[in-house]
Amino acid sequence: MSRPSLGEGSPGQQAAHRAFTQGLVGPGRPDAHTTVIAPCANPLCATPAIGAAPAEGMVRVTGSRDGARTHWYCDGRCAAIGHARAELRAIPVRGKGPR
Ligand SMILES: [Zn+2]
Repeated sequence: MSRPSLGEGSPGQQAAHRAFTQGLVGPGRPDAHTTVIAPCANPLCATPAIGAAPAEGMVRVTGSRDGARTHWYCDGRCAAIGHARAELRAIPVRGKGPR
């Protein structure tokens, strides 16, 4: 079954489509088949930050005010995910206050 699509009748729509495809025509390339979230293979990643770093290069990521603990993460992607999770937890839920 093909996806429904809007027609591209007007000159403005056709120009926008050409700009989007950069002049390429025909079917698009196949999906990349890459894993969106690859699990971290480091067993020390996400260790609760009670003491010193469990390994060199680990990054201490502060938890959130709602009680989420501070953890050690791998530098880079894992630490970024930890920061993002802490920030998301800090967003108040409508009508309930901070979680
Ligand atoms: Zn990690």
